[in-house]
Amino acid sequence: MSDVKCTVSNCYFWAKTNLCSADSILITSDRSVEPHPGMAVGNEADSALIQAIGSTPASSIAETACHTFKAR
Ligand code: SF4
Repeated sequence: MSDVKCTVSNCYFWAKTNLCSADSILITSDRSVEPHPGMAVGNEADSALIQAIGSTPASSIAETACHTFKAR
């Protein structure tokens, strides 16, 4: 992935200078994934989650997050 800036420095995909090194990331509104706490993320799993939750509008930045995060 190019030019996705992120400051979550304890993520497996985080790289120096605050860049994300993941091939792709999944971002949704936080509320939309609450009913699906056990669903995995990453490539094919992302597609399943997206199909399950559909579009996920948010009303502010605080209601969105990266769900590709993986703790180091
Ligand atoms: S996967 Fe998400 S949390 Fe992790 S570095 Fe990339 S943008 Fe940040």
